[in-house]
Amino acid sequence: MLKDCDFCNLAGTARWQYVLPEERPVVGLANEDGHVIVLDDDGLWNACIGCSLIVDRGDVAGLIQRVERHLAPAFPDMFGPQAGETWKAMMTVRYAAVMLPGTQKRRI
Ligand SMILES: [Zn+2]
Repeated sequence: MLKDCDFCNLAGTARWQYVLPEERPVVGLANEDGHVIVLDDDGLWNACIGCSLIVDRGDVAGLIQRVERHLAPAFPDMFGPQAGETWKAMMTVRYAAVMLPGTQKRRI
């Protein structure tokens, strides 16, 4: 069973898996009232060949562009030109975490 890419979301294209260390950064959002959303995950990111090339060269901006290109047609409110900067800011931090030196890359 081939897995989808966790970045660009292309179905069945994942060929690599990035395994983040236990002490990986976790991203959260807090508003002025003190409400917090934590975006934790299992620390496993599946990647297609195209996305893994971008991850391996540490190009967060390039990865964001690629993900937007693939997801904007289906989810214009989240990824299209009218989307806010919040998503981009969060994904920048999350993608940067995948690119940290402690991450292991393995074939799947
Ligand atoms: Zn991909």
